[in-house]
Amino acid sequence: MTTRQDCDVLDQEDPLRELRHQFDLPAGTIYLDGNSLGVLPRATLARVQQVIQREWGQDLIKSWNTAGWIDLPGRIGDKIARLVGAAAGELIVADSTSLNLYKALSAALRIAQEGDPSRKVIVSERSNFPTDLYIAQSLAQQFGLRLHLVDSVDEIKATLNADLAVLMLTEVNYRTGYQHDMKALTAAAHAAGALVIWDLAHSAGAVPVDLNGADADFAVGCGYKYLNGGPGAPAFVWANAKHAQRCWQPLSGWLGHAAPFQFTPDYQPAAGIKRFICGTPALLSLAALECGVDTVLAAESLGGMTALRKKSIALCELFIELAESRCAALGVRLASPRDEGQRGSQVCLSLDAPLQEAGYAVIQALIARGVIGDFRAGDPARLDVVPHILRFGFTPLYIGFADVYDAVEHLVQVLKLEEWKRPEFNQKGAVT
Ligand SMILES: *Cc1c(COP(=O)(O)O)cnc(C)c1O
Repeated sequence: MTTRQDCDVLDQEDPLRELRHQFDLPAGTIYLDGNSLGVLPRATLARVQQVIQREWGQDLIKSWNTAGWIDLPGRIGDKIARLVGAAAGELIVADSTSLNLYKALSAALRIAQEGDPSRKVIVSERSNFPTDLYIAQSLAQQFGLRLHLVDSVDEIKATLNADLAVLMLTEVNYRTGYQHDMKALTAAAHAAGALVIWDLAHSAGAVPVDLNGADADFAVGCGYKYLNGGPGAPAFVWANAKHAQRCWQPLSGWLGHAAPFQFTPDYQPAAGIKRFICGTPALLSLAALECGVDTVLAAESLGGMTALRKKSIALCELFIELAESRCAALGVRLASPRDEGQRGSQVCLSLDAPLQEAGYAVIQALIARGVIGDFRAGDPARLDVVPHILRFGFTPLYIGFADVYDAVEHLVQVLKLEEWKRPEFNQKGAVT
């Protein structure tokens, strides 16, 4: 079994160890929730202060030109493009993931319907993040289509037929961390004549992504998770070049117009992906997002996403090894895929009966010890299929091997000492 000393050696030999100094992590905290809200980069405070004091405070409205504010959605988009296998000019930062899904799915449905109006089905997974499903439900209603939800990859494959308009999947599942084979599923859906939208919320900055290599149709992703953009950071949207130039999106706002400053009464979409911009971007949030994206790009000289992925796998494998060898007898089970090729940058655990209902309190007890993960409730009607889970994200930019060791040690203590039984760990807050 890997020892604490082994972990110290792994940290010393880690080629990415310097990247951690891009962040001021709070002392005594092992942060395993970067999959939900990334940490604060050191550069962010000074940059946002500069935007507020100089660019806004002193230069005022001139800054749209002099500070390049108007170019920020495209400039940051080009940086994110490098992380997801897209070309410069193909990806834009705008709005939230939910809104971008609305725009991208609308565009994909319009293309599908124009190609073949008899295609009446949108397919997604029941286990997809709820906002994705809610947006798809809304659009299915508007377009007069049916949203069909499935539970496995085999079931997805069974839906790839002449009824399918759009397949909408999240590449890495937000609960289990299960990672789809983007390239194979995209090719299979295309062979059936359908379009594919990928949600990269748990992929961008977490795993290597190759949108153009997979020939995907549309993609959206999140700025505040692995991209460290800050709470509520703007999201991004990408369209395959073959669609971007001719597709329509319903939120036709003035900044997505071909010539916004001509203030004409008729809408003409901007060239390419810029038409996915709706209104004025949140500049302060954009400035923070750029600092976050830069922390991931800082790995480029050290091997980039391939090197980050290698370390992420090593961290996750170590966590699984230690959690299983030390906590299995305490009622802990792996609830993520065991095969590293089918897993994103997170690992989740479930608890056997009689601890089944203790998951939330176990996470609270861990947080009190400085180990921050999160709890996601299962489906009460079928806990055997969708169990309550303890979810841990591993961000190789700032998590080390000794952190993983210490986190498992805390989990062992919480379970052995039954700390989770304390009343204060059983009070639920508004956000879980
Ligand atoms: C986090 C996440 C979102 C978040 O959507 P918002 O519009 O930012 O609230 C959407 N989809 C998936 C799959 C996510 O994991």
